[in-house]
Amino acid sequence: MKQLYDVLIIGGGVVGSAIAREMSRYTLKIGVLEKNLDVCYETSGRNSGVVHGGFAYDTGSLKARLCVEGNKNMGQLAEELDFKFIRCGKVLVGSTEEDMETLRRTIRQGEANGASGLELIDSKRLHELVPAVVGEFAMFSHNSGIVDPFNYTIALAENAHANGADYFFDHEVTAIERDADGIYALTTPHGIFHTRWVVNSAGLGCGRISDMLGIKGYKIIGSKGDYIILDKRTGPLLPMPVYPVPSNTYMGIHVTNTTDGNVIIGPNADMVFDFTYYGVPQENMDYLAESASNLWPCIRRQDYIRNYSGILPKWVDDNGAIQDFKIEIRDDIAPRAINLVGIESPGLTAAVPIARYAIGLMAEREKLEPNPDFNPVRRGIPRFEELTKEEQNQLILEDPDYGEVICRCEKVTRAEILAAIHNPLGVDTMAGIKYRTRSMMGRCQGGYCQMRIAQMIEEELGRKETEVQYARKGSRMFFGKVRQEV
Ligand SMILES: Cc1cc2nc3c(=O)[nH]c(=O)nc-3n(C[C@H](O)[C@H](O)[C@H](O)COP(=O)(O)OP(=O)(O)OC[C@H]3O[C@@H](n4cnc5c(N)ncnc54)[C@H](O)[C@@H]3O)c2cc1C
Repeated sequence: MKQLYDVLIIGGGVVGSAIAREMSRYTLKIGVLEKNLDVCYETSGRNSGVVHGGFAYDTGSLKARLCVEGNKNMGQLAEELDFKFIRCGKVLVGSTEEDMETLRRTIRQGEANGASGLELIDSKRLHELVPAVVGEFAMFSHNSGIVDPFNYTIALAENAHANGADYFFDHEVTAIERDADGIYALTTPHGIFHTRWVVNSAGLGCGRISDMLGIKGYKIIGSKGDYIILDKRTGPLLPMPVYPVPSNTYMGIHVTNTTDGNVIIGPNADMVFDFTYYGVPQENMDYLAESASNLWPCIRRQDYIRNYSGILPKWVDDNGAIQDFKIEIRDDIAPRAINLVGIESPGLTAAVPIARYAIGLMAEREKLEPNPDFNPVRRGIPRFEELTKEEQNQLILEDPDYGEVICRCEKVTRAEILAAIHNPLGVDTMAGIKYRTRSMMGRCQGGYCQMRIAQMIEEELGRKETEVQYARKGSRMFFGKVRQEV
């Protein structure tokens, strides 16, 4: 007999996972169909990790409203779900009269949006806040912050799962049909899934899913941003993100501290139509370093440890003008389908308010019964390195696996890797372990621990060497033996 879901969510990024989590507050049978092998392989794991204040978006837009709400609630969410969030503030640094005028306008816009804690500061105060910065004055946003985007997304997904949502990885939706009773059938490589409600939270795939639902005509372009990650040595030199004065459409190349003490530089914004290429050309890295050095001259090549990039799905009109978030139900074309289009920045900040907005649309059409068993709390894997000596000793006594360090750079223990391998979502890739523990994220980028972690996956999950994958489907760590005993 075919299984019928109340809701199938297409896309398990931060937005799809926030929707799954918020919907699990109700008595709904929920499934998440994700084409990748984990929840943060696309945009949700490829961004600046900044919790925006909400001042940069047009007053009255969903981007402004949901961002301000997401910013206000991030502290409580981080406590409930046990992910790292630091309300460190942020500065937008200027030096010309024109910059000053833009910053004054930004403050007026921010206040109209409901963002609080915005002030103009002089050079003295700016250099007290960020001694190494170059600039004459700044707008200081007290309430901006930084978040660990991986654990934030994973936490939402794990909490949704603990409250009953099913996660299906490697389940790309390739076709959608609706029968005479209004039941949707979603085709994936592993079978057809049936549901009363569909949610399109497919990020870069939003246009394609929208087309499958019959809601045609959305034009989505990609804006690709590259980044350089710097060694933790640089972390103490940057207590908060430093941005230039923004233009109307682009926040500019900034330097951002991360919740784990690195610094990231970027992003540029190149228009792209290929949503699968994440390479970072050398000339882009040079450009990022040169631009960012004008604001924060602490950038040295010897501190580069990795690069990465992300692609924003921007919904544009026929004239190429960037549009607001679109969150809609088109009762005339696709009843009981919640269609999210153009969820670009500040989608990370706004994910939970986006989810609540989407559920609000659903509740206008169907009575939702509260789930009496909903538990908003999720605990992550404790970070051994961040515990006190006493706590560390106690843990080693309880479990000797805490006494063996596997990743030397980030001091991740065997017990943490084991907890990650046995994660609740059943993710079994190297990147899955990396994002859950920070192993392989340090200076040596896995040179020391990678092979040991691959071996632990083999042993714990009973996999052959050739079955261990790095991140994406088919990204095998090993293809066979170079030499073999006969
Ligand atoms: C360079 C950059 C910097 C950014 N910086 C910030 C920031 O500092 N602060 C902030 O608030 N926001 C920021 N953002 C925006 C933020 O990252 C995104 O808005 C957010 O991650 C979007 O989440 P999502 O879940 O919609 O998308 P995604 O994370 O892309 O998730 C969509 C998921 O859908 C899956 N999918 C797609 N098609 C299908 C299909 N057919 N079947 C099944 N699954 C499918 C994908 O595999 C993917 O996992 C930034 C983005 C970029 C690119």
